[in-house]
Amino acid sequence: MVHGKRLMTHSPPQLCFYCREKEATAPYVHAGIDEVVCSVCLKRLTARDALEDRLMEIVTLASQGRYDDALACLNEIFEANRHLDDDQWLARSIAMHRCAILVDAERFTEAEQACRAWAALGFETVDARWLQASYLAQALDALGRPREALGVLEEALGHRDPRYLPLARGLLRQLAELSEELDQIVAPEWRHLAEAVARRFRVELPVADMLADSIIGLAKTTRDLRPASLDEWEKDEGKTSAP
Ligand SMILES: [Zn+2]
Repeated sequence: MVHGKRLMTHSPPQLCFYCREKEATAPYVHAGIDEVVCSVCLKRLTARDALEDRLMEIVTLASQGRYDDALACLNEIFEANRHLDDDQWLARSIAMHRCAILVDAERFTEAEQACRAWAALGFETVDARWLQASYLAQALDALGRPREALGVLEEALGHRDPRYLPLARGLLRQLAELSEELDQIVAPEWRHLAEAVARRFRVELPVADMLADSIIGLAKTTRDLRPASLDEWEKDEGKTSAP
């Protein structure tokens, strides 16, 4: 390839500022950033900015109770940018915000549908899965289906990633409260997870006759605590399991 040979005599192509893998082909200028990026990253960044630039507006609308305006805003952003959304990042993010708004608005039938639509897009990380389960469980419980809500939480908590362990605290609390509502005990299998969460917050799981009370107590006592970082926690765990 003559053309290729000629190119090889030049300096190597500049790499994309973000992925550092592909050749930078276009300028990306936004919010004080001025770099060259590849075409894939340019699409992704443009879609991300389209949403992030209007998030404050959306949050403000929702806080004023103008839920339909907030939802319309999300739809507008999606329609204007869906052609850039090759990896469905925008679709997933918008699905998450829809769920948050609909639960906040106490429009639980629509919230359930929005949660199912989000799940259909798939979850890239465990924290997203847990957040979706939390919203869906709230909606189902409010719709008078606490048993289904409990099943949703249990299924979601079956997926683990130590990076997000502190977030399990909220889900466990929901699970404990739903169990109390259903007048059934929290399955003992959740004790391990509750203990791991407690260690991450560097406290003991509160002692109580019922596991549900321990979990609710844990959520209360750690409310203002910052969890250990993953690195710190792994060190602590290493110590605990050492002979
Ligand atoms: Zn790139």
